[in-house]
Amino acid sequence: MSTISVKQEKVILITGASRGIGACTAILLAKQGHKIIINYANNDQEAEHIVKKIQMNGGIATAFKANIGHSNEVIQLFEYAFETYGRLDVLINNAGIMYLDKIEDVDDQSIDQILAINLKGAVYTMREAAKRLTYGGKIINLSSSVVGLRPEGYGVYAASKAAIESLTAILAKELRGKNITVNAIAPGPTATELFLKGKSDELIEQLAKAAPLERLGTVEDIAVVLAFAVNEESNWINAQVLRVNGGIV
Ligand code: NDP
Repeated sequence: MSTISVKQEKVILITGASRGIGACTAILLAKQGHKIIINYANNDQEAEHIVKKIQMNGGIATAFKANIGHSNEVIQLFEYAFETYGRLDVLINNAGIMYLDKIEDVDDQSIDQILAINLKGAVYTMREAAKRLTYGGKIINLSSSVVGLRPEGYGVYAASKAAIESLTAILAKELRGKNITVNAIAPGPTATELFLKGKSDELIEQLAKAAPLERLGTVEDIAVVLAFAVNEESNWINAQVLRVNGGIV
């Protein structure tokens, strides 16, 4: 089994990196010299755009389309990572979707999709990473501050992210002996399509004012914390959830 030496560039798989937090994190980590695999589910053009942007800055990245809600596609994604770069050091489990409904109104399809992608998809990628990540590697999961806030209408989504926090702590224990850390980053409201879609300007303004810092998070606010979680400075942090939200909870 290979070992990561201090300051070595890493091979990093970011799920859901064609847009939003994942895309910004991919660009930042590539600038730091890491090799990136950009996973996505639908948007070929946006994924290719991020790859080109990284390559134009002198970085190394490739994209691979795989729906993380399907375990066979997750296996293909990991195969691709190993075929392309020969190893995998870091998994950033970022792909996610959100539908908002009160529990009494939520339909079966929304429940199934949220659990298929946010929960089952994350388990599929964690399972492959647990088997195949380099000694000394890192798994970073995306939770959400709604696990603490518990806002009405977020029931199924918040439950899917609460599960991520449980999985984070348990997988960290199960990986004893491999020197692999498992942590979760839990953003608050962040200006991406996932958060903005379907909300009125008034509601967005209200949610932006909810944190003591009185603004929405930006993708850069989250990407810098994910980069910290990837790099050597955070090596002693394990089995933790870090909320990044301007103090909203
Ligand atoms: P976006 O909607 O901006 O981007 C979602 C990304 O996930 C896209 O790249 C999309 O790919 C990809 N994706 C969606 N479904 C799948 C799938 N089945 N398989 C593979 N990729 C998929 O989301 P954000 O950047 O806002 O969110 C990123 C993560 O952060 C999510 O886990 C989210 O729950 C979490 N989060 C976000 C917050 C926010 O306020 N924005 C707050 C707290 C947590 P494609 O372009 O192909 O559709």
